[in-house]
Amino acid sequence: MVSLDRGKVQRRYARGGGGQMMDAPEEKRILKVAEFITIAELANLLNVGAAQVIAKAMGMGLMVTINARLDHETIAIIADEFGFQAQLMDEYAEDVAESQEVLGNPEAEAKRPPIVTVMGHVDHGKTSLLDYLRKTHVISGEAGGITQHIGAYEVNTGHGTVTFLDTPGHEAFSAMRARGAKVTDIVVLVVAADSNVMPQTKEAIDHARAAGVPMVIAINKMDLPAANPDNVRSQLANYGVEVEQWGGKTQCIEISAKKGLNMDKLLDALLLEAEVLGLLANPTVRAKGTVIESRLDKGKGSIATILVQEGTLRVGDAILVGSYAGKIRQLMDERGQPRNEAGPSVPCQILGIDGVPQAGDTFIQMDDEREAREIAGRRHRAQKERELRRAQRMSLEDLSNKIAAGDSQQTLRVIVKGDVDGSVEAIAASLEQLTTKEVRVQILSRAVGGIKEADVMLAAASDAIIVAFHVRPDSNTRELALREGVEIRSYRIIYEVVDDIRKAMEGMLKPEIKEEVAAEAEVRQIFRVPKLGAIAGCYVQSGTIERKLKARVYRNGIEVAESRVSTLRRFKDDVSEVRSGFECGVGLDNVDEYQEGDIIAFFRQFEVARKLSDSKA
Ligand code: GDP
Repeated sequence: MVSLDRGKVQRRYARGGGGQMMDAPEEKRILKVAEFITIAELANLLNVGAAQVIAKAMGMGLMVTINARLDHETIAIIADEFGFQAQLMDEYAEDVAESQEVLGNPEAEAKRPPIVTVMGHVDHGKTSLLDYLRKTHVISGEAGGITQHIGAYEVNTGHGTVTFLDTPGHEAFSAMRARGAKVTDIVVLVVAADSNVMPQTKEAIDHARAAGVPMVIAINKMDLPAANPDNVRSQLANYGVEVEQWGGKTQCIEISAKKGLNMDKLLDALLLEAEVLGLLANPTVRAKGTVIESRLDKGKGSIATILVQEGTLRVGDAILVGSYAGKIRQLMDERGQPRNEAGPSVPCQILGIDGVPQAGDTFIQMDDEREAREIAGRRHRAQKERELRRAQRMSLEDLSNKIAAGDSQQTLRVIVKGDVDGSVEAIAASLEQLTTKEVRVQILSRAVGGIKEADVMLAAASDAIIVAFHVRPDSNTRELALREGVEIRSYRIIYEVVDDIRKAMEGMLKPEIKEEVAAEAEVRQIFRVPKLGAIAGCYVQSGTIERKLKARVYRNGIEVAESRVSTLRRFKDDVSEVRSGFECGVGLDNVDEYQEGDIIAFFRQFEVARKLSDSKA
């Protein structure tokens, strides 16, 4: 847990006597700590009594017990008091590697296949393009079984391999980028030849530019009579994308994913782009890479699709993946066929990790499994702690936001659990996008896996609902949810989740009050009636006056009073309604002054449930 010279520490404290070390101005020693360690652990690292650490914490105004977890800031201050500089242990694979034996030959860099993501507007043909390649070019050929959707696969072009990431939409791309994973070398931007540069086309261009990744344009649906590639090219130029046919640098291939037209040209263009990029990786060093997708299989347990980016991963290797660990029990290609190893740019599915990592998590091959598990455990605890603290912080933030917004913004809190990381991310992103200025969707947590008691407790504590996508709670958890009044909504289609949550949010919108004018009457005479006060003798011009209607009095078109009908009479009789064309006496609550010629408008109010689109920010 620590890389600390205990001998030195002991000597130091033997001299100084329990932390009073300030007299000997030595250079501060580095104390490597994990995020959020307990008082007991910190005391142990500092080699002082827990009581001393507690005393320091109390001196800082923290009332803590020996098992309290401290955050890094507090740890740093306390460590400083004891003459140490606390340094956060790095959690990233790159740094883990430093503690591991050096493998391979650092000079052995070799060319590697490009990793390609297909992007573009909906219905322009991304899926068709990937499907076509999958059917015709996948490396394992007809060897056996149908290709499964695993999030990535290799395509054989005859003179080189291209790895395609089969990610659902742009969310996955940005989610991975947000997590710091750079897995794409080239973006294929699909634009339908019979269409235009659409919002998601622009979004894709922006994504590619932000990531600094070159694009190859695929103008699709060239088989259609309405195909007009020049229109597409000129629109792209308007958006700053200069294609090669027009003297620019961006390759642009006219294809038909449906008919397979020019697909080989597209693949060649990708290989050419890769050549220019000079993509290299070292297959002999420690294996590292990124998780593309992950899911929980009933029989096999956790299955993750990973992309090796450096080194070569083999069956039997110990591995650390995000905050999980294990030993590779099986490596499989996109057809579920076993393989022995996977080198740079090779996607594969792995079995044998003890949990479901997230897309964008990095993995690294470890010297031994025990150490992998130890680091994983530490990361796991740190992550839980961070989540907990974030939840606490968010509820506070919420409170202050509410106060600032005069309580006008409501929050719908959601916990998303699903079977596949891609869907979980997509659902979370789509739900967050529903946020309007009146109702906010806040994703408290998102994860792959069944619904656990901890999810229900988090939901209960933060008044959240749980969205379950192809997963369910076990009976204990279901009972707990019932007891705690936590709502678990199950879905099988992403669209339904979004639709349903939208409806739930509409239920949270304050209803809109609408008015309907029921009648209008002109005041022609004013009476004073004992006990009733002023009564307006009216002629009903339109509609029907009823008791209890609301009314506004207008004089020369200007509103002078608002009230409701208290008295409604025909001659001397109280009546419940008077229709247009009749005369009547009208008394309004608290209105005692009328003039001839005033117009009284009678109206009723009703509540209308609102649509979310009315409240868009
Ligand atoms: P995505 O939303 O971008 O994944 O688009 P899809 O691949 O689902 O394609 C949308 C529609 O366009 C489908 O009905 C396809 O059959 C059709 N389509 C895709 N590629 C072509 C093509 O090359 N030619 C024609 N005529 N139709 C295509």
